[in-house]
Amino acid sequence: MRGTMMQYPLTLVHLFERAEKFFPDSEIVSRLPDRSLHRYAYADFCRRVRALGGALRRMGLKRGDRVATLMWNHHVHLEAYFAIPCAGGVLHTLNLRLHPDDIAYIASHAGDRFLIVDDVLLPLYEKLRGKASFEKVIVVPLTGSAVPAGYEDYEKLVARGRPWKMRVPKEEDAAGMCYTSGTTGRPKGVVYTHRALVLHSLASALPDVLGLANADVVCPVVPMFHVNAWGTPFTAVMVGAKIVFPGPHLDPVNLLDLYEQERVTVTAGVPTIWSGILRALEEEPEGWKLAAGMRMVVGGAAAPESMIRAFDAFGLRVIHGWGMTETTPVAAVNYVKPGLSALPEEERYALRAKQGVPLPFVEARARSEQGEVPWDGQAMGELEVRGPWVAAAYHELADESDKWTDDGWFRTGDVVTIDRHGYIKITDRIKDLVKSGGEWISSVDLENALAGHPKVAEAAVIAVPHPKWGERPLAVVVLKSGQKADAGELRDFLAAKFAQFWVPDAVAFADQIPRTSTGKMMKATLREQYKDWKV
Ligand code: ADP
Repeated sequence: MRGTMMQYPLTLVHLFERAEKFFPDSEIVSRLPDRSLHRYAYADFCRRVRALGGALRRMGLKRGDRVATLMWNHHVHLEAYFAIPCAGGVLHTLNLRLHPDDIAYIASHAGDRFLIVDDVLLPLYEKLRGKASFEKVIVVPLTGSAVPAGYEDYEKLVARGRPWKMRVPKEEDAAGMCYTSGTTGRPKGVVYTHRALVLHSLASALPDVLGLANADVVCPVVPMFHVNAWGTPFTAVMVGAKIVFPGPHLDPVNLLDLYEQERVTVTAGVPTIWSGILRALEEEPEGWKLAAGMRMVVGGAAAPESMIRAFDAFGLRVIHGWGMTETTPVAAVNYVKPGLSALPEEERYALRAKQGVPLPFVEARARSEQGEVPWDGQAMGELEVRGPWVAAAYHELADESDKWTDDGWFRTGDVVTIDRHGYIKITDRIKDLVKSGGEWISSVDLENALAGHPKVAEAAVIAVPHPKWGERPLAVVVLKSGQKADAGELRDFLAAKFAQFWVPDAVAFADQIPRTSTGKMMKATLREQYKDWKV
């Protein structure tokens, strides 16, 4: 028997029109380059989205055309987030922290036709200008200075732009695209459909995921070029929440000031951002009056248990999640099931440091060479996922097809355990695993434990070649300023928590851990740097 429901397309046009109708008074606040705050209401935002869409159409934007953005997090970027896909185009967010040659490669590979760029980022654009060819470059005069000749002025376009009749795209049409940050190889493009972004927004808003509600004040610190700021701009507009953008000012004091002034209730970013915030709070515990229970969504790299504990002490709640560019990105989020909330403190924090339970519609399994691994919290295997917001291919990269299994699962390249309650724990990326005497050692576990040592600011654990064991772990440690520690002390600290063979034989002290543009440790660089280290 066939059902008798309407076929209703799931598109960003609906999210936009809903916001326009129901939330005209919700606010959008952005910190501008000069640190002043720009604020307007959804009504202004929606009017400008319609004007920008109209202007892009008049410029010749056709269905499926890519429009790149090179922008910080602010209201104009949000306008592009909706105007481009609602006008039939594909929003392609470029990562402004990459090398100009890489940005140019990515823009060319994606076939971007137009570019929208912040005026403060024009010096960066100049460096890639000859290497990527955009038909038109639209400059956002954030600083109020005149737009140089040869560029389109965003504000003039919007002022002139007449709304056009928004046509509802097909839900399978491309709406956005993003390239992986290239931690483990060349950047690969993922193309998001309207349907995937809408379903991802719906699932993200659920209470056990990010729990975004109309009454929330949402501050995406994670860049809008890093997997769409994890979808938070789409989800926030869907529910009509107030949105606060930090612009280019991502230092802890600026962020804390913004949280306090705008009464932020939910914020999202990578662990390095939160380490900085934590240090600022520890230095000045009475410095800021934050909204009680402010939620801090942490992803992109593992949130150490010590960080979750430390924020708890300030009454701030860390929500640990896992995702990838290929999974739009939110695929698993940690919450404590009621049956587990009575666990002893140690175990409860260990649970909260796991990457969580898959979202509805995301299926997960872990496989090793022996097949699917049991959900016992011990056996390690490669995490595979499938679901409506998981990529089925990369943009024009046929030779990557081995990333998908024959039965249609995406191979994440992350090695995990899954416990009997369904909590996933990332132990490593396959390429970062340490294999000692045939046994796997989780560098992530060792790093998180080291991060909990009172003298350690940050730590990376890498494999170095060893004549007997194949590989042994080496800890590269950055001490907190003014601290002194020796290898023995740190090894003793680890020996109390791990099997003897897991404990790194040596510790190298460094001034900093090299990180990628999205805050991940550059293990490949470290392995190269320490390849001759004898442990
Ligand atoms: P890239 O793959 O280029 O590094 P992504 O941003 O797509 O860029 O990174 C996804 C990867 O980040 C995941 O495969 C995983 O290794 C890591 N990751 C994401 N979230 C977490 C987390 N909460 N804990 C540990 N690792 C994480």
